[in-house]
Amino acid sequence: MDARNHSYTPLTEEVLHRLRRAVGDKALILDPQVRESFGRDATASGCLPEAVVEATTAEQVEALLKLANEVRFPVTPRGTGTGLTGGSIPVFGGVTLSLERMNRITRIDPANLVAVVEPGVINGDLKKAARELGLFYPPDPASFDTCSLGGNAATNAGGASCVKYGTTRDYVLGLEAVLPTGDRITTGVQTRKGVVGYDLTRLLVGSEGTLGVITRLILKLIPLPPAVMTVVAFFPDLPSAMHGVMRILSKGYTPCALEFLDRHCLDLVGDLLPFEGAHDAGAFLLVEADGAPRSVEREIEEMGEVCLEAGAGQAFLAPDSVKRSRMWDVRKEVSLRIEQGASLYVPEDVVVPLGRISELVEGLPELENRFRVRIYSFGHAGDGNIHLNFTSRSGSSSMQVQGAVEAVLDRVLAMGGTISGEHGIGLVKKHFMARELCAESLRLQREIKRVLDPNNILNPGKLFE
Ligand SMILES: Cc1cc2nc3c(=O)[nH]c(=O)nc-3n(C[C@H](O)[C@H](O)[C@H](O)COP(=O)(O)OP(=O)(O)OC[C@H]3O[C@@H](n4cnc5c(N)ncnc54)[C@H](O)[C@@H]3O)c2cc1C
Repeated sequence: MDARNHSYTPLTEEVLHRLRRAVGDKALILDPQVRESFGRDATASGCLPEAVVEATTAEQVEALLKLANEVRFPVTPRGTGTGLTGGSIPVFGGVTLSLERMNRITRIDPANLVAVVEPGVINGDLKKAARELGLFYPPDPASFDTCSLGGNAATNAGGASCVKYGTTRDYVLGLEAVLPTGDRITTGVQTRKGVVGYDLTRLLVGSEGTLGVITRLILKLIPLPPAVMTVVAFFPDLPSAMHGVMRILSKGYTPCALEFLDRHCLDLVGDLLPFEGAHDAGAFLLVEADGAPRSVEREIEEMGEVCLEAGAGQAFLAPDSVKRSRMWDVRKEVSLRIEQGASLYVPEDVVVPLGRISELVEGLPELENRFRVRIYSFGHAGDGNIHLNFTSRSGSSSMQVQGAVEAVLDRVLAMGGTISGEHGIGLVKKHFMARELCAESLRLQREIKRVLDPNNILNPGKLFE
């Protein structure tokens, strides 16, 4: 899209001159090839920003947003561009604001179990730095070795450990953000609790770069669990695996991961698993526990037995960290292989109430036949967050894939679920927002956006139609 089709001001030579003065020459990128790479995310689509600003300080972010408000050009915040919903694509041109170089871990405070970081720090780098001090930062999107903590906060990213530890939001105690008007605010606390005023931290976390640019995060850490163990189980079919999941949770176990793969996924990566049993299984469950060594050992053995009672043909303990990390590599390989093998690929990350996971997955074969599509399902069974990956089969059209997506989303909502558990809405799912949220809620959300961003310059075109 082109800024000139909207009410935004194009970045003329004069505007670029003012921009250079505001953020400094070194921060400004105009080379078209480099700009192109900042206009995409992991959806593999993109738009060309008219300029890229690589900020290294919050002052540059302030100066940029003040100028954008005055001149009226759009600004799209970007972490490392691993988003799966087009959230950092500059659909109206303007400036892409990269936070990637604001990547300092300012402080890790073991006495108070807190880390203070800039937004461009890679999730895995904080995990590593915390681990060296015997501390743990749990949020673990599968992209943890490439995605930024600012992006994680903006999307409220989750991962396999959510079932025990919760999402990014549960670890953001406070933050600093530059509002779309260019005013800098701090929100929240550095303490374990705090209830003074409205919770603006929770408003900004998950706002997908539409309400403010996060320039600093105060994050909660916890002590590093001394032991982690894994058991895997092969089930005859997906519903029996989900039955196993419910049995584990209802018996009061607290796994730190409860992940599954369906038969279609096993067809793609089963041969890579370091265990026999994938070729004739209908579903695969990966269960992990962490904590004190003796209780972890007992819990993992018992959860393996629960799987067998629930119908698993085989259950194996992962004997060492090598096999354990191999399994996680395989788990990560799934989405890559699905994408590589399909001419059309639509990833969805729905969530249903725990008791209805089986019902959802049991209905998938009928939808596959009705719409002539393939639906690969895998993901976080322990919190009902099912990654449904829709692909075309030979001869099926994009309309059929879209039809299957819509049918599933409607079914999920009818079950009391939600259309996105972790990836967010961004660009690609905004036309589904009204199916989940009531008109009054949408109106209120638009009002909040208008109050904070009266000129609609921060990440326009996202969330709302
Ligand atoms: C292979 C793969 C696996 C993935 N697995 C998971 C998973 O398990 N769980 C999960 O939740 N996600 C997952 N994702 C999606 C993605 O990694 C997350 O959404 C991540 O949080 C995005 O971080 P980012 O730095 O790449 O942000 P970007 O993609 O750059 O941006 C994402 C959104 O955040 C906004 N934003 C970024 N930085 C800031 C900031 N400092 N201030 C304000 N807004 C900002 C952008 O405007 C955009 O709307 C996966 C992606 C891939 C490619």
